[in-house]
Amino acid sequence: MPIMPHPDWLVIEDERFSSLVLPNGQLDSLWRGGRWCEGPAYFAAGRYLLWSDIPNDRIMRYDENDGHVSIFRQSSAFSNGQTLDREGRLVTCEHGSRSVTRTEHNGRINTLADTYEGSRLNSPNDVTVRSDGSIWFTDPSYGIDSDYEGGLRTSEMGCHVYCLTVDGQLHRVAEDFEKPNGLAFSPDEAWLYVSDTGATHRADGPRHIRRFRVEESHRLVGGEIFAVSDCGLFDGFRLDVAGNLWTSAGDGVHCYAPDGKRLGRILIPETVANVCFGGVSRNRLYVCATTSLYAVTLNTRGHHVIGEAIAPSEIRTASRT
Ligand code: MG
Repeated sequence: MPIMPHPDWLVIEDERFSSLVLPNGQLDSLWRGGRWCEGPAYFAAGRYLLWSDIPNDRIMRYDENDGHVSIFRQSSAFSNGQTLDREGRLVTCEHGSRSVTRTEHNGRINTLADTYEGSRLNSPNDVTVRSDGSIWFTDPSYGIDSDYEGGLRTSEMGCHVYCLTVDGQLHRVAEDFEKPNGLAFSPDEAWLYVSDTGATHRADGPRHIRRFRVEESHRLVGGEIFAVSDCGLFDGFRLDVAGNLWTSAGDGVHCYAPDGKRLGRILIPETVANVCFGGVSRNRLYVCATTSLYAVTLNTRGHHVIGEAIAPSEIRTASRT
């Protein structure tokens, strides 16, 4: 079988990356028209992707069945990071309300967290859900630094990382960040990765991802630097089933092995803010990049606590009956 050359938007830096990408894959530009796209969340049951267009104060919806894009919610309280909980409900970080909300099955939007020990949160940025149902999020100040991505407000406390446990208690789990941003668990949930984008406010500030050991439900240990960006900032990211970390960066998407080695890059024409796995086989990487939504089909699958146990063969059988 002839060896196909990789397209010029794929940069192989470690041979392991070759097995994760498709040499005959495409970089699909799906939509353009946003101001700052971030916060993707994929709904497998409906085969659609939601994402935030923060300065335009709206949540967009891409239908994977026919490719059309529409507005899902406006105003969205300047929503940012989003994910699904264990019941498939949308969990959203909102700059405008300075809270984390959940959209119930009946459409009602409930506030899950907006204060900590009597002080208002800054502007929750990104969120992930653990298999025990706990909701983990970061709370930097980007949504209250200006009216552009929320509303100019006074911060009532520092920028920290939180865990909302299923008993409704909000725990501060890390407080040595400048601007905590993206976060995601390893597939075995033994590790939590959290990025720090403090370089937005201090020239030599952090531009890295740290890794914590998760102990006793919500206690974090360690926190060593896992990867440092050499191009732009690591905003949001996701992990695949093998524990490789796919992160946003200034020139596209960077992929890191669990050992911290960068394996390769997917070059995107715009600055990338966040990524999300989707598709029937969860091998479609959706990329929120400044004004646009892109997608790349990979030769790996995204890790997610919902639906991961369903094999593609089972999905095909189900769709025929
Ligand atoms: Mg972010």
